[in-house]
Amino acid sequence: MQAQPFFKSIIMNSSNQQSILRVTFLISMIILMWNPLQAQAVSYTTKEESLPCIDKEFSIFVHVIRDSLGNSGISVETIEEQLEGLNALFSPICARFSMCNIEYYPTYQFKDIWKKDQVVEMEKRYFVRNVINLFVIESQQLYPGDQCGFGRHLGVMYPDSGSIFIQKSCFQTNIIAHQLGHYFGLLHTWTGSGAELVDGSNCTTAGDFICDTPADPYDPFVDEPPFLGMGREDCLFIYPATDANGEYYRPDVGNIMSAYQYCYCGFSRQQFALMAFHYQISLDKKW
Ligand SMILES: [Zn+2]
Repeated sequence: MQAQPFFKSIIMNSSNQQSILRVTFLISMIILMWNPLQAQAVSYTTKEESLPCIDKEFSIFVHVIRDSLGNSGISVETIEEQLEGLNALFSPICARFSMCNIEYYPTYQFKDIWKKDQVVEMEKRYFVRNVINLFVIESQQLYPGDQCGFGRHLGVMYPDSGSIFIQKSCFQTNIIAHQLGHYFGLLHTWTGSGAELVDGSNCTTAGDFICDTPADPYDPFVDEPPFLGMGREDCLFIYPATDANGEYYRPDVGNIMSAYQYCYCGFSRQQFALMAFHYQISLDKKW
């Protein structure tokens, strides 16, 4: 889901909820800034403190929107297989995921999502409390930086809304993990589109505000593949522009919150820490 500005991705919530989320986000940023690891931006070799273990199995309710011919377009086996992959990916913070139910809907007017009204209506009809709601759709044009779906930023904190939407054509572990990243409060590594400096000196105030994810200049509204790394299956990052200090960008194309989806590999340590933290402070603990 888009993350510019920060809370553009937060939709259909009251002003009170927005205030709570802003405070939450600020608190989490302050905690990250206090972390001495912050001073070592863009270091992957430093000895790290252990990550929190939330020891939680999340139940996922899968909502499949059928196409106009009534076809589901995705098998239960595919869904289960891809969800299983999440368990390995999220094991550093002891988070697990399992499908608790699956429903198929003939409402093919929801198979292609291009406006927020559709999301509001879908959640009004189908949202189930205490679980993670995963809608499987045909396509979405709401968030151009997220071709394969979208997930509500900090959705974990909402008891009555806050879902994840994934396109059938790219229903894969890493894509679902990206949207779960948003759900647990992560921003794109390219937030700010290059405002974060390569040397990491402003990593607490620019970009995704996470210092172990290198500056990433990608701008979905300006940069076109294959000029950039996005869309390149060889994961080569090609980008001629430099940051404000004249340094060339070296984004982590393997980071799951980047735009380089062919190269997705995993989350950074501080991303894990922030996701665990958001779950820990959420009043809605889910089943
Ligand atoms: Zn995204």
